[in-house]
This record gives sequence, structure tokens and C-alpha cells, in this order.
Amino acid sequence: MGFNTKIQWCHHTYNPWWGCTKVSDGCKNCYAENFAVRYGHDIWGIGKQRRLLSENHWKEPLKWNGIAKEQNEHHRVFCASMADVFEENAPQGEVKKLWEVIKKTTNLDWLLLTKRPHRIFDSLPADWGSGYKNVWLGTSIEDERVVERINHLVSVPAAIHFLSLEPLLGPLPNLPLKNIDWVIVGGESGGGSRPMKSDWVLDIHQQCLAANTAFFLKQTGNILAKQMKLTDKKGGNIEEWPEEFQLRSYPLKKMISL
Ligand code: SF4
Repeated sequence: MGFNTKIQWCHHTYNPWWGCTKVSDGCKNCYAENFAVRYGHDIWGIGKQRRLLSENHWKEPLKWNGIAKEQNEHHRVFCASMADVFEENAPQGEVKKLWEVIKKTTNLDWLLLTKRPHRIFDSLPADWGSGYKNVWLGTSIEDERVVERINHLVSVPAAIHFLSLEPLLGPLPNLPLKNIDWVIVGGESGGGSRPMKSDWVLDIHQQCLAANTAFFLKQTGNILAKQMKLTDKKGGNIEEWPEEFQLRSYPLKKMISL
């Protein structure tokens, strides 16, 4: 699937800038921060400069759009893996630039994922209306303490609303799934991983079935993978999962089949 991304459900990953501030427990082992530190960038936290990117970098999505158009297809772009586009400290000039690029690239479907859905509304372009057709809005939820994010998300009109329950750190027995098109679930991987329990996943799957919401289990995470004796350390190889974990993924109603 991916051209420049390892994410199974996207063709590309795009970062309009690098840098962010931790906002909840799901950020504890932020992969992006660790990656930035490894490359010598001190860009995490309030008041830290974000890393801005070159004009050539901003031309990339236009190229991807051209390719998708030639193939008469829509390609999905995950935005962002190294930032949260709705963050308080987001560089405003770059936010404006991002909306302009999104508007021009009608053969790309942009998946904007945030832990700050309460900030989406004030960050939208003036002509958002009932939502750009090529923008999917999503929020990350790790446990019940931040489930309120869903209400903020669905209060903004969008072509697709989705949830990323990754890293899943606790049970979510009462997910409000009205107007949620798609749920992605994943356990934590990497150093200091925290456990995801199989019961939580099975329960979320049942809730998605009842709500007719598409469901996708991305990976079990390190700890569950070890318990299940999987060879893939992240537990991302569906072929290895035990039978009760071969959960049915409903196709995303309007747009794609996973
Ligand atoms: S919101 Fe995302 S990018 Fe920002 S610190 Fe948290 S996990 Fe990292």
C-alpha cells in the first residue's frame, strides 16, 4: 500500500512541520519525539521552536496528487506523524499553507489525526462548510480519561470521522460511536511499552459491529504479542493471530475497503 509510509492504510505520510507538546498519557512514549531527539532536534514542549521544512518538501503532495490523478485514483495521506496539526504552538503560517495544499490536491484524501479535537473548529479554513470532501478528521484515544475527545471530533462536520485507539491503555466499554465511520485499534510497541488486553479489543470490536462502524486492528503491541507467542514483536502480522483475534474488518462505508 504505502509509497513512502509503513502505515498499512495510507499511501503517504506528510509532515508540515516537526515538533509538538505532550498532552496526555498516550504521549508518554511518543515515537516522534524520540525520533526527533535522535536527529538532534530540540523541538518538543511549549515554547520550543518547531522544525520548519523546505519549499521542495511542500511540493511533494502536489506531485503525489499528479500521480493519483494520472491513475484516476484517490491516494490517502496520513498527516502528521511528527506533529499534531491542531496543536496550540502550531506555526500559523504553516497551518495556512497546509490548508492551501489540501485544497489543491483533490486526488489525495488527507487523514488529519489529533489529540486536540477541541481545537479543530478554530483552525478550519473559512470555506470549510460541511467539510472538504478530501479530509478525514480523526482523534486518538488511549483510555476513558480522554474519551470526551470524541464529542469534540464529531461536533465538526467532516467527510469521514475516525478514531485511533492506539496505544490502547485501558478498556473503553462505552464508546460513543454515532457518526464515527472507522475505528483503528493498536497496542503499544517499542521501549517501555504498556499492555493492551485482548478483552478490551474484543469488546471494542463488538461495539463497532453493533454500531456498523468499520474496525481495523493494526497490531497487538509488544506485551500481548509476547503473551500470544507471536514471532512479530509488535504483533502486526494478522496471519499469526489466534482465531479469536481474526476480527472482521467492515469496509469503510463511503470510501474504501481495508
Ligand atoms: S500529540 Fe502525538 S506527536 Fe504530540 S506529543 Fe503526543 S503522541 Fe507525540
